Amino acid sequence: MRGLVIKSTGSWYQVITDDGGIVDCRIKGKFRTKDIKTTNPIAVGDHVVLEPEPGQDTGVIVKLEERKNYIIRKSVNLSKQAQIIAANLDQALLIVTLASPRTSLGFIDRFITTAEAYDIPAGLIFNKLDLFSEEGLDILAEYQEIYQNIGYPCYQVSAREGTNLNQIRQLLKDKVTLFSGHSGVGKSTLINKLIPGIELKTGEISDWSDKGQHTTTFAEMHPLPEGGYLIDTPGIRELGIIDIDKQELGHFFPEIRERMNDCRFNNCRHINEPGCAVLSAVEEGEIALSRYDSYLSIYHGNDTRA
Ligand code: GDP
Ligand code: ZN
Repeated sequence: MRGLVIKSTGSWYQVITDDGGIVDCRIKGKFRTKDIKTTNPIAVGDHVVLEPEPGQDTGVIVKLEERKNYIIRKSVNLSKQAQIIAANLDQALLIVTLASPRTSLGFIDRFITTAEAYDIPAGLIFNKLDLFSEEGLDILAEYQEIYQNIGYPCYQVSAREGTNLNQIRQLLKDKVTLFSGHSGVGKSTLINKLIPGIELKTGEISDWSDKGQHTTTFAEMHPLPEGGYLIDTPGIRELGIIDIDKQELGHFFPEIRERMNDCRFNNCRHINEPGCAVLSAVEEGEIALSRYDSYLSIYHGNDTRA
């Protein structure tokens, strides 16, 4: 029987089988991920083959299907080990607010660059539309232009007031989508609107409860009423975790990627080389300065998380 892993606690995996049943499963045998050591062999979003356990309503996962992509986070205490957070994502959406809290362009760029490196299409959802002043709306339009021009779809919503949520429902339909964003951007409020009955807590400041107990370290996949799944990543504030090879970085900026073949040197870093097509596009205003700044910042290993 084939199925999709929608929840994991580390030793147990909840699997939706192709016939729609839900089976709690353990793992039998070893499952290895190519090129990296992982603390968990299987994650939400994984497609698996399972066998029922004789005489019980539980199952055993016996095979892991090949992944089209996956996201990881590095283990804090075990160097060189990584936790697979989720697999087989169709898109990663960053929820952005320009005020309370402010999401910086550097943070947005780091998110989408990482999504590019993971081979996951990215998009932006600007939330709290109801709070925008005239001036705020101008800035919003400016931001939106920067990202739409380079191929990232942008949406404007108010999760609180329910504005434009049908666009988001259409966007998520039949897809596996990761939601990310700073704490306080309205991710829980939005999920509550998209999945009636889920009732996530909103307005929580921290990912840790008052009792000092970690709420969860595993991602969960929530089925959407229209079809598809939403992956919430509690406790994971950003996607910018993997190391990107400097030489590769330009490939993960669409506006650099499309020009780099016109640079004079084929090992151009697009920093100060003569005949650099990227630098001239920046000078001509064809590449947004903020995007180029983010490129330099990530290239030099500066932290652009704030
Ligand atoms: P999360 O940390 O991203 O899950 O954010 P929450 O969903 O907990 O929301 C943080 C705060 O922002 C709460 O007080 C929400 O009521 C508020 N909020 C969420 N969405 C909106 C919105 O569209 N407009 C306004 N004005 N406030 C919102
Ligand atoms: Zn160049």
